Amino acid sequence: MPMRIINVAAELAPIAKVGGLADVVYGLSRALISEGQDISVIIPKYSTLKTEYLQGLKQLTDYPSQFEGSEYQNRLWEGVLDGIKVYMIEPRHPRKWFERPSIYNQEDDTERFLYFCRAAFDLIRHKGMAPDVVHLHDWQACALGLLGSTDPATFPRTALTIHNFAHQGICPEGMLNLIGVEGDDVARDLSYPGMANLLKAGIAVCGAVNTVSPTYAEEVLEGHGYGLEEILKKRRDFKGILNGIDFDYWNPETDPLLEANYSLNKLEGRERQRHGLRHIANLEECNRPIIGVITRLVPQKGVELIKQALLDTYEKKAQFVLLGSAPIPEIQREFEMLKESLAGNPHVHIALAYDETLSHQIYGGTDIFLVPSLFEPCGLTQMIALRYGSVPLVRNTGGLADTIIDVDTSGKPLTETNGYVFNNPDPHALKKSLDRALDRWYNQPESWKALQHQGMRQDFSWTQAAKRYLDMYRDI
Ligand code: ADP
Repeated sequence: MPMRIINVAAELAPIAKVGGLADVVYGLSRALISEGQDISVIIPKYSTLKTEYLQGLKQLTDYPSQFEGSEYQNRLWEGVLDGIKVYMIEPRHPRKWFERPSIYNQEDDTERFLYFCRAAFDLIRHKGMAPDVVHLHDWQACALGLLGSTDPATFPRTALTIHNFAHQGICPEGMLNLIGVEGDDVARDLSYPGMANLLKAGIAVCGAVNTVSPTYAEEVLEGHGYGLEEILKKRRDFKGILNGIDFDYWNPETDPLLEANYSLNKLEGRERQRHGLRHIANLEECNRPIIGVITRLVPQKGVELIKQALLDTYEKKAQFVLLGSAPIPEIQREFEMLKESLAGNPHVHIALAYDETLSHQIYGGTDIFLVPSLFEPCGLTQMIALRYGSVPLVRNTGGLADTIIDVDTSGKPLTETNGYVFNNPDPHALKKSLDRALDRWYNQPESWKALQHQGMRQDFSWTQAAKRYLDMYRDI
């Protein structure tokens, strides 16, 4: 018998994507469908939703939900995304919760996602969906765990995956009354008096809790849990399950967004893709390796290190392509200034945007892929880079440490390595590892190729992780 699993999240790739959460909900759902499970996803119907990717989009009958002691109607939409059943909630509430320019960073994010959770709770009951497991993702879905615990007949099992402990959904305790639950001990924040913490509440009430890589799980327990260490230690089942990437979507052999397709056996296409990237990015044709970065430009991602690496390399030995979306205005300004100061430079391209097509071009056209994060719960970009033949250079943290093995310093044979790793988050350590990579690229081309091919052969697909999630659901 298939298990009926409902994922509840703020993001789903590619229709509502800010970062890795979207890829995970998409990739895990597809992998579980391949395992024969019955999967659906509930997300808000953002006005920015890329509905062109959905098949059979249709509006179902409105249904009511409760908020702030009143009843509001919700438009309900249904569509199919590459086999995944997707329900989208469009609240008919005067605050127009999801008719906003971006998915996050609105002043009333907590209220917006409290409303979403209440509406998802009412949807699951209203439609008689009878889930075996409701799988919540990050703080935005956690209030549904609280609501579900008041109705165990409808919500017999809940699981929570935490994709990043830095975001916890902290709000005044009284705000929980909006959705009709009490802000009691379960939700009370441990650091700020009078505040509730939605992530903490989710950890307390859900039947299983995990994060997205084994090393990040350890780091969180050892002091990087932003105040939630002690409560996590009480949960003996807390663990890290390494994310995968969707091997159909991220496949250089078939990727429609590349200039040229290629595979390990037909690598000529990769050379064409490299030329294509240089063309799009206005980079000079020359015998230099191209370093790529694709990231949200937020402090977690090591923005100062990225800047440093860019300034260090373009003058000398490499070219640099940075694709960064900057939700923080000061960082946006800082990089705009950098971009201006380097305008017309034949070895640097800086794009300050979210750009799916360019991201594929960069994975496929760069030689080295830089991920210097200060912390990284899992990180998907290094896994995508491996598959596309761009050799990752990463900091030794979280999921980066679980996926990238240094060719020089790990003590392992080349056949068991796939990139470069540095420890300390300082420019000196980064520069040393970059110098090692550039040196191999210039002076040991055969060994470079072997390293690149090694990464392209690795299997970071969802197959293994999906099995571990199934085990987790069964264990609840
Ligand atoms: P996070 O979730 O912290 O942003 P991950 O490495 O887990 O980081 O996932 C990032 C995902 O978002 C990848 O699919 C990456 O390609 C994509 N991405 C990040 N920034 C951009 C951008 N500016 N334009 C296009 N895609 C981006």
